[in-house]
Amino acid sequence: MNQIIELKIKPNYVAEIANGYPLILKDSVEQLDEMLIEGTLLKIVRPNGKYIATGYFGKQNKGIGWVLTRDPLEEINQDFFQDKIKSAINLRESFFDDNETTAFRVFNGEGDGIGGLTIDFFDGFYMLSFYSEGIYSFRALIIEALKETVNYRGIYEKKRFDTNGQYVEQDDYIEGEMGQFPIIIKENGMNFAVDLNDGAMTGIFLDQRNVRQTLKENYSDGKTILNTFSYTGAFSVAAALGGAYETTSVDLAKRSIPKTIEQFSVNGIDYEQQQIKVMDVFDYLQYATRHNLKYDVVVLDPPSFARTKKMTFSTSKDYPKLIKDVLAITSPKGIIIASTNNASFDMKKFKTFIDKAFKESNKRYKIIEQHQLPEDFVTPENYSEFNYLKVCIIQLLK
Ligand code: SAH
Repeated sequence: MNQIIELKIKPNYVAEIANGYPLILKDSVEQLDEMLIEGTLLKIVRPNGKYIATGYFGKQNKGIGWVLTRDPLEEINQDFFQDKIKSAINLRESFFDDNETTAFRVFNGEGDGIGGLTIDFFDGFYMLSFYSEGIYSFRALIIEALKETVNYRGIYEKKRFDTNGQYVEQDDYIEGEMGQFPIIIKENGMNFAVDLNDGAMTGIFLDQRNVRQTLKENYSDGKTILNTFSYTGAFSVAAALGGAYETTSVDLAKRSIPKTIEQFSVNGIDYEQQQIKVMDVFDYLQYATRHNLKYDVVVLDPPSFARTKKMTFSTSKDYPKLIKDVLAITSPKGIIIASTNNASFDMKKFKTFIDKAFKESNKRYKIIEQHQLPEDFVTPENYSEFNYLKVCIIQLLK
């Protein structure tokens, strides 16, 4: 059983936590005991000692822990985790019933009541991700709770936190069938190869499901598509299946070539008819501008921070410049699918980046579609900061 200590919250943070804000911010406490052990339960109290909530200590980039319950009598035990997981599974019933989509998120951290923990479903396999040492201390209870709640082929885990500043190579397998990876999952009828035993990432970002679907259905037929920061080429696959004339995938990582070939191949697409380039996107944009290349659709999904030999890119500073560079190689009535998962700014701010880029380029545009996290990525009501995904589909005008 994890130890419990009392944690006094500063007066001006009391209302927010009492009203439902799930994150315990570093600034909300006077002073944190440096010896505090990750996973310690926190009885969060007002300055006068009155109970507000129970949480746990677990450092992530944003906060120092998460609220688990506002009921002073509720204990944090296997039943607690089981109730949360069960509710989350029930909420996704329609996903389990959909034969065209066999991979989705079944538990989304704070949105489902336990910050720091996510669980993804891949055709019978469950993959747990732990985002702090603190939540990892509840690992055994959480795994038992999951096993009691679902039928599974296999269970895998990812530790998404540093252990003493080092990423530890680990065996991700926990229980059940040892997957023969890659397994092929379905998403709206498209196939994707997924590997749960291959580092931090699996081959597909499930939160872009609706964006891939609209790219396939509405923006691909007969078009040329440039997919920047393409990773395993999931957007390129969607575009090719939607009838694209040609796709070009650009990513810095050498691994993106075999991975992208694999994603095309499991969909019966001849990868030799597509372009796959291992290149710095910023260099590619220059190259394409010099050669006067134009694309009907450009997908722009950079990581929040990117480091290249020459520069560092941060979405919160450099996104307008990136869009300006992309405008130079977009067809006159073309489409830009601009995406970011940087949680440090919201949709409104993101739109100001887009507006700045177009103003400075003397071009007109219209945002014809926008997306945030899909239905399975449940976020806490009233707190839009946890809905980190922002996607605008921009139509160039005149
Ligand atoms: N859009 C992808 C996910 C992108 S993940 C999808 O939906 O599947 C971010 C990718 O950016 C990684 O594959 C990383 O290798 C790549 N990357 C980071 N910096 C880059 C750069 N300067 N040029 C090209 N690719 C880069």
